[in-house]
Amino acid sequence: MAGLKQRVSDLVYKVGDKVGDSFLSPPHSSFGQYVNRGPDDRRVVALTFDDGPSYGSTDRLLDALAEVDAVASFFCVGENVRANPELLRRAYDEGHLIGNHSIDHSRGAGLSLRDTQHIERGEDEIADVLGVRPTMYRPPWGWLTPWEARRLHSRGYTIVGWDVYTHDWQLPAPSTASIVDEVLEQTGPGSIICLHDAYPLKPAYEKTVTADVVRDVVPRLRDDGYEFVTVADLLGLPATRPLDDLAA
Ligand SMILES: [Zn+2]
Repeated sequence: MAGLKQRVSDLVYKVGDKVGDSFLSPPHSSFGQYVNRGPDDRRVVALTFDDGPSYGSTDRLLDALAEVDAVASFFCVGENVRANPELLRRAYDEGHLIGNHSIDHSRGAGLSLRDTQHIERGEDEIADVLGVRPTMYRPPWGWLTPWEARRLHSRGYTIVGWDVYTHDWQLPAPSTASIVDEVLEQTGPGSIICLHDAYPLKPAYEKTVTADVVRDVVPRLRDDGYEFVTVADLLGLPATRPLDDLAA
């Protein structure tokens, strides 16, 4: 009986997952509320990294980005920011954009009709460290409801999706070469590339594959004429808002 119950609940979860991914995720759906790419008239792209900052992964990635001299955008989970403020500060000081990826990466909060705390608390953790507020939001799991989009827009957020998706988050990690292929196959002028520096609620997390991908893919795309910018620069929008700008 317990086995059957488990199988039914696994099935419900799987179906829910598929429905959510089909209707709420970038790049094809979500009722047009996502910004999934920039203008396609120049060979400019944005690397984005979700779920940090975590030791063992974000620090490795920052080292790799410094080596290849590229800027990127980090969509950070508030709980990880609270655990690792100095890592967030380092990313910001090194010229990267810091975006909000909610306080705790909950799927339910974004689906809820009323909850705004997941947005505000994530934002406040970032603001406490940087002294400025983020302007860009990426929903955890990529799931965006129309009512969540309304809440985000009323707070002045641009909702950032992607047009290049990779599986660097999978465990065990896919090979560097397979993720590099995913990036190269999908990238075009104006692309927003989705990668993961860390794992949502792990302030320390050993991960090397994404840093290796960066070392490989950045020089190759550059050889192909691409330039790397933050999402804000790609879209021609401000990267931060002042601390006292409480747009809600
Ligand atoms: Zn995430």
